[in-house]
Amino acid sequence: MDILIDFDGTCVLHEFPKVGPSVPGAVETLKAIVANGHNLILFTMRSDVEDPKSESEEIVCQPGPYLTEAVQWFVDNEIPLYGIQVNPTQHTWTTSPKAYGQLMIDDSALGCPLIPDPNARPFVDWIGVRKLLKLRGVL
Ligand SMILES: [Mg+2]
Repeated sequence: MDILIDFDGTCVLHEFPKVGPSVPGAVETLKAIVANGHNLILFTMRSDVEDPKSESEEIVCQPGPYLTEAVQWFVDNEIPLYGIQVNPTQHTWTTSPKAYGQLMIDDSALGCPLIPDPNARPFVDWIGVRKLLKLRGVL
């Protein structure tokens, strides 16, 4: 199964533009997903910003390697990625810009188990996600 995985609030705590500490249970669960033969596709709003100006010349974001830093988190934690922002095979059968996957784990997804954070937005409750993944036969 191809699984889309969000980054901020899902893999790490909400500290954008920094990479926050790993959300408890994220690394272990993502490794277990891959060990069970599934593909992880990083699907995040992060991008590498070289020119901070938008087409209207307003500064939208400070320059920074935001997406590269997220990818590095997967490298550092030895979690293989099948794709980054896109399913690597979908160009053969669709022109849609939406990344294709059968499942998405995202703190902003309705129904995703969350843990409240008094200092930031809630983050993913990986114990709850593991239960859902077992119900779906992923784990
Ligand atoms: Mg998020």
